[in-house]
Amino acid sequence: MKKYIFYILFLFLTFQTNAQQLTMYDLEGLEEIICSEVKSSLLSTGYQPSIVPHTYDVINHVLSLEVDPSQFYIKGAVQTGFIPFTSGLNEIYFDLSFNLTVDSVLFQNQSVSFTQLANDGLKIEFPYTLNISQYYEVSVFYQGVPPMPSVLGGFDTSSHQGIPVAWTLSQPYAAKYWWPCKQSLNDKIDSVEVIVKTPVAYRAGSNGVLVDETVSGTFRISHWKHRYPIPAYLVAFAVSNYDVQTYYINFSPTDSLLIMEYAYPEDMSFVLTESVKMNQMFPLFNDKFGIYPFMDEKYGHMQCEFGGGMEHTTMSSMGVYGYEIIAHELAHQWFGNTVTCKTWDDIWLNEGFATYLTGMVYEYNTPDLWWLVWKKNQVNNITSQPGGSVWVDDTTNIWRIFDGRLTYAKGAMVLHMLRMTLGDDDFFQGIYNYIHDPLLRFNYVSTADFKQHMEAASGMNLTYYFNDWIYGQGFPYYDIQWTQNPDLSLYFKLNQTPSHPSVSFFELPVPMQCWYAGNDTIFWLWNTQNGEEFTISFNHPVDSVVFNPFNDIVAKLSSLNNLDNQPETIFQLSPNPVGGGETIRLSWMPVCGVAQLACSDMHGKSYFNKELDLSVGQTAILVDELNAGVYLLRLQTGDKVVVRKFIKH
Ligand SMILES: [Zn+2]
Repeated sequence: MKKYIFYILFLFLTFQTNAQQLTMYDLEGLEEIICSEVKSSLLSTGYQPSIVPHTYDVINHVLSLEVDPSQFYIKGAVQTGFIPFTSGLNEIYFDLSFNLTVDSVLFQNQSVSFTQLANDGLKIEFPYTLNISQYYEVSVFYQGVPPMPSVLGGFDTSSHQGIPVAWTLSQPYAAKYWWPCKQSLNDKIDSVEVIVKTPVAYRAGSNGVLVDETVSGTFRISHWKHRYPIPAYLVAFAVSNYDVQTYYINFSPTDSLLIMEYAYPEDMSFVLTESVKMNQMFPLFNDKFGIYPFMDEKYGHMQCEFGGGMEHTTMSSMGVYGYEIIAHELAHQWFGNTVTCKTWDDIWLNEGFATYLTGMVYEYNTPDLWWLVWKKNQVNNITSQPGGSVWVDDTTNIWRIFDGRLTYAKGAMVLHMLRMTLGDDDFFQGIYNYIHDPLLRFNYVSTADFKQHMEAASGMNLTYYFNDWIYGQGFPYYDIQWTQNPDLSLYFKLNQTPSHPSVSFFELPVPMQCWYAGNDTIFWLWNTQNGEEFTISFNHPVDSVVFNPFNDIVAKLSSLNNLDNQPETIFQLSPNPVGGGETIRLSWMPVCGVAQLACSDMHGKSYFNKELDLSVGQTAILVDELNAGVYLLRLQTGDKVVVRKFIKH
């Protein structure tokens, strides 16, 4: 493998400058959700699909690793228990970086031949054909300098106050940079153990339960065990001179959860201050989505030197500690870790949910302040560009997969608008059913799986909604006209222009806030077609109308016109009611142009339709021939319409 040293150096030099720029995240602020789960792969060309044929089922892994965080080097043995599910199998593959050197492979405790492939594959050949459905074990012994730090991710090292720290970060394609695994999203590992041997000054955090920690000579061995199905990218460890603090969060008189904080000694007091804020998050998540899914183990954070956080199951890796990022990584324990996206195209099922649940934490705790700010920020971010779908249309581009505007913000607001469409009861019931579906729980999920559960809970066909908001691009612009009729009913006309041609029309409930005498009422107009008109009963003279007041829908306003305030359409009608033999007088402020004046009865029967010269300021209408009843006068200039009702005695 020495022939690849030049290749490695070349890549490192080429991308070093780029990496330094790209890793400068500003990850804590009120303005945006923070999440640098782009993390492992900062290259847009980082597409690294699994090369492993789906011929066997991974049952368990035991990772025995030797890590000195002062060395950019990893040495380990990974034992894999597996069951073939194709007949005639006499070889299997793992994903493993070609940069790492495999020293030997044991199969059922006997050495077997293997080949490392240039496409990061490890081919292992068995001395005989394996039986279908029988359990086997194979162990891979390997070591080496992993691929470039800070660029392709995987294994990385740095320091804090001069003390070294090492960590792993594998999503989406970098697990193979530090251990032999099956990196595809089609086979969760039923259980995993991570055993890390470090110099005694350090300790390792990882997934699951710390079953043992022993000091042997100058080394410390930390043994972690995780007993829930887990994808390869969520297996992780971190090593440094951690201070370890634990406490319990009580969910009920009988349920409490162990919290473990692995933080630098100099940062532990701050970390604990932030960590206990999970007391404001767990009750909401437990209530809406079922109790924390890994109750038999723990939840914790382990501190690392990167920007952002990563939701490693039961032990999130944290570069920063703040309210939003703690909520986001905790939310992933339900969405991302319990149900995991089946393909990277479906990543919004992880990130859109975690982002929305972060917003919900604000809704739950500060509904009148940060919840409103959060929604406004999402809508502003999403509508800053006209296109882009939640569905990832290019998984070869790491930046596209983890696009903050689309995968995170738009994914979150698509959930919020679905909630506005379905109502809270059906929305939360559908999600609860989705995450508790025995076929999906602790398994992989698709957008179709989620859609099916939301349709079942609501009884609605949501194909239009997913086509518009998940697969289609953009958002609607609205042109809205309104007026208040003499009987105080409110008239609205909604015109919509989509920002992107992939969607012809967004069917949405549109919130309109009506202010009257210092009070307000919000009407949700279920807008199903362009140019749709609404008349709503109301009992108060309205002072003003506000579109989408709390940013509950992703939309922009092009215009909002009170038809009464248009100079050319202000007109007064008197007398009303009008008696037999009387003349109705229409008057308005004279303006240039013409309007169309029409009169009809309440059944739509038309009595006259004529052009009106708006420059004259008034006209008289003879109503002698009309029978007693209620009539409508309709004055139209361009696309602006004013309707006035009058009564003939
Ligand atoms: Zn996330």
